[in-house]
Amino acid sequence: MSQIHDIFQGWGRSIQAKFQSLPEDVQKRSELRMSICDSCHMRSNKVCSPRREGTHVITGEKKKGCGCALLQKTLADNARCPLGKWEFAFRAIQKVHEIEQKFAAGK
Ligand code: SF4
Repeated sequence: MSQIHDIFQGWGRSIQAKFQSLPEDVQKRSELRMSICDSCHMRSNKVCSPRREGTHVITGEKKKGCGCALLQKTLADNARCPLGKWEFAFRAIQKVHEIEQKFAAGK
């Protein structure tokens, strides 16, 4: 999907959130993403600051913040953290689930 689609989806969902009508999975994913943003040096108030730079946690590349409003960004399905922090966290959580399932199955 396009970035324009992500922006409209994020803003639309932020309005839905005010009426507490967001799908539960979208709400939970947004909360997890936002908890990562809350401790990130790239965050400036409610925005991922394009004036700040950081290192992508997977590729090691230097990247600037995207300039997006964070609440709306966290609500868009295809939005990505410019530093790969969301992807890294979701991969880690998935790995933990896989290990738990193997452990529960006695493998
Ligand atoms: S989107 Fe990524 S880089 Fe931007 S504030 Fe959130 S965690 Fe930091």
